Amino acid sequence: MSSATTLLEDTSSKRPQLAHLSAQLDDLRSRGTHFKLRVLDDEQAQVCHYDGREVINLASNNYLGLCNHPKLREAAIAAVEKYGVGSGAVRTIAGTMRIHMELEEKIARFKGVEACVVFQSGFTANAGTVSSILGKEDFILSDELNHASIIDGARLSRAKIKVFRHKDVAHAEELLKEIENEPGRKLVITDGVFSMDGDIGPVAALADLCDKYGAIMMVDDAHASGVLGRNGRGSVDHFDCTQRVDVQVGTLSKAIGALGGYVCGSRDLIDYLYHRARPFLFSTSHPPSVAASCIAGFDILENEPERIERLWANTKYFQEQLTGAGFDIGGRTTPKSETPITPIIIGDGRKTMEYSRALFEQGLMATGIAFPTVPEGKARVRCIMTSEHTRAQIDKALEILASTAKRMDLLA
Ligand SMILES: *Cc1c(COP(=O)(O)O)cnc(C)c1O
Repeated sequence: MSSATTLLEDTSSKRPQLAHLSAQLDDLRSRGTHFKLRVLDDEQAQVCHYDGREVINLASNNYLGLCNHPKLREAAIAAVEKYGVGSGAVRTIAGTMRIHMELEEKIARFKGVEACVVFQSGFTANAGTVSSILGKEDFILSDELNHASIIDGARLSRAKIKVFRHKDVAHAEELLKEIENEPGRKLVITDGVFSMDGDIGPVAALADLCDKYGAIMMVDDAHASGVLGRNGRGSVDHFDCTQRVDVQVGTLSKAIGALGGYVCGSRDLIDYLYHRARPFLFSTSHPPSVAASCIAGFDILENEPERIERLWANTKYFQEQLTGAGFDIGGRTTPKSETPITPIIIGDGRKTMEYSRALFEQGLMATGIAFPTVPEGKARVRCIMTSEHTRAQIDKALEILASTAKRMDLLA
């Protein structure tokens, strides 16, 4: 550390203005859930180095290995050479490049919808969309485990928020009935795949409700894009609901391997978001290289479906082996995983973080997740399978998971 950095840290720690933050960090330390960021030294790959240690990586969302696929890499380099590194403006001022339009048209065709708008991230796609399509007279019905970006968007909209129990369609209907005669619009929203438990949202049943009550149906397919549905078209395609879901959100940051989020739907929905979604209006658009990589990523979904098949085969094997070894991977006190997201439920936050650290020491990267990201008492080490893990890597990971859990007395 340079002396300049040390000096800065010393002065800032003496200023009282932010002392409440330091107190909260001390509280996290005393609970054992304070963390340091692990730093990746090389590529986001199945075996890589974090903080200088070689690990088998079960922590990324790089489902299909596209983060470092040669075709996405080449597309980015070619775009940098042709168009430079930045777009120079927000989309609505001067920052809409031809390649942004090409990406949106490609996604719309892939999803079988009229139109698509790309945002800087899945987070801004959700937050920007939910906050702009509703107002304070309206109602949002949201699954209790929906992603933070949906919750933030709902708050920003100032609509009235009603939370239904996780995947409880009957509860959602009860809430819809209560407000049936209210004049406001109603939006029902669910994750397609829930990010902490890996279970699949009841998209078809919620779409039935929306049809019955005239509500708007919205699905956030961040973890389903590239994973579920034909060639990875998502949970909406998986349930054959494309014509009945008004607003489909997806991400380009997970299976697609680069960065961004998108909304798919009718031409008017997209045109409206061009005019009203605040992250679209007030934040600069993607570098052309990112758009180029994403286009190449969709080409791979279309042309290499065997990656998705490998992802599911690896998932099935990994989850069967974990269950056989006595791990709770959901389904007892938490929802049961139905996708490559595989939580190993530990319960106690401190123990979970200790387990994750011990795994790392043994050469396995699997992130501990505790309150407030998941409910108190339901802390877990979350593992995510990819299509690119070899059987040998998975076996080695299983051995580390089991031997470390036995040593720490975590297996039932
Ligand atoms: C990751 C995630 C997002 C955010 O996507 P980014 O592109 O990383 O911003 C939104 N919704 C869900 C359900 C997610 O898991």
